[in-house]
Amino acid sequence: MTGERYDVVVVGARCAGAATALLLARRGYRVLLLDRASLPSDTLSTHYIHPNGLALLARWGLLDALMATGCPRIERISHQVGDVWLEAKAPVVDGVDFTCAPRRQVLDAVLADAAVAAGAELRDACEVVDVTFDKGRPVGVTYRTRAGGRDTVAAELIVGADGMRSTVAERVGAPIEIEDQRLTCIYYTYWTGIGADFELYEQPGRLVGALPTHNDQTLVCAYFPSAEFAKVREHALDSYLDNIRATAPGLFDRVAAGTRTERLRGTNNQRNFFRQACGPGWVLVGDAGHHKDSITARGITDAFEQAAMLADCVGDGLHDEARLREGLRRFAEQRIARFNPLYRMALLAGTLDVSPYRLAVLRFLSTRPDLVERYFAVGAGIIESEQLFNRQLFAEMSAHRAGTPR
Ligand SMILES: Cc1cc2nc3c(=O)[nH]c(=O)nc-3n(C[C@H](O)[C@H](O)[C@H](O)COP(=O)(O)OP(=O)(O)OC[C@H]3O[C@@H](n4cnc5c(N)ncnc54)[C@H](O)[C@@H]3O)c2cc1C
Repeated sequence: MTGERYDVVVVGARCAGAATALLLARRGYRVLLLDRASLPSDTLSTHYIHPNGLALLARWGLLDALMATGCPRIERISHQVGDVWLEAKAPVVDGVDFTCAPRRQVLDAVLADAAVAAGAELRDACEVVDVTFDKGRPVGVTYRTRAGGRDTVAAELIVGADGMRSTVAERVGAPIEIEDQRLTCIYYTYWTGIGADFELYEQPGRLVGALPTHNDQTLVCAYFPSAEFAKVREHALDSYLDNIRATAPGLFDRVAAGTRTERLRGTNNQRNFFRQACGPGWVLVGDAGHHKDSITARGITDAFEQAAMLADCVGDGLHDEARLREGLRRFAEQRIARFNPLYRMALLAGTLDVSPYRLAVLRFLSTRPDLVERYFAVGAGIIESEQLFNRQLFAEMSAHRAGTPR
């Protein structure tokens, strides 16, 4: 045991953990960042980042570094629902007028490198196996070292950024506060020779997405209801291709003419929950504290937002127990206020419901470019859904149906 002391130990060094380590190190704290994976490495995730996520990367001075890795800019977004086609330019946030979908081994490395440049210490291939306590308060972690030994380090704050199956959450006993049933399962892989903007296609019970990423590859993903997983998995590649053929025939023709470059990956384990956000000496960020169906592609952007929120709430109060407690309390409050509406939106999207009513609303939006832009801004979490789907919209819809000018 080295028994080294840090201000903060962050467990998990991907988009939530590396971003948190970066921001706390920039505030002058002594930060240790641990991950059990050997980094850089890929992880099970498609990887679309909403414009507000990119705006945070820009604020942290990392967007240029990310784009310099050869990540393609996405400038147009489209969403076909049934026979309704919605298309617009990417929403603009803080001057960032594009989106992108970087491979995780690239994105996570840009963040971890920046954390290290800010003074954080990164130890990968180190698995945290326990949280240590003093009089009931977490005071450090024990981890398996790269060489196979064990080490215990002390810290005033333990940050669990260790994903949906968080060891930190389990060891500190963070209860699930809100939980909903699983809704979708997903399969995805990569193709060359396709070319795509961000394209979404939806039919009842099915959703298909295409995203350009590094090395001229296009990620194509296919969503199914979670209840169909056992059947889908039996012949996963056929199910995946059948879904694309039925939901997005034009995209299917491009896929059929392209070349698959990687194995098919999939999961049915997309839990929907909020865990308790924090307690004395510990806090959870990213998937560790709040997980939702990937259908709204928000996990990465949300992880960035939570990292920024936590760093602001902790501020310079880490060494003062009362201020730290108050900062963490504010983090918990802000987390639920910001992410509960987005969680509800993901639960709605996860039903894969294409009702006649929804189609009628979307058909009306499709007649007005300003409304289509707002529709994508809602999807990105830039404006709240009530700012679009409100009484004024429904009044305008009625007037449109009656043929009266608005
Ligand atoms: C199929 C799929 C598609 C998705 N598509 C999108 C998308 O398009 N856009 C989007 O924004 N989000 C998407 N998401 C969600 C997104 O991937 C997650 O929200 C995001 O990865 C969360 O980041 P995180 O840092 O919290 O956790 P993770 O990325 O899970 O990272 C956790 C890290 O903690 C480490 N760790 C775990 N346990 C320990 C331990 N005991 N000790 C040390 N280290 C540990 C792991 O090795 C890992 O590196 C998708 C998810 C899935 C499953």
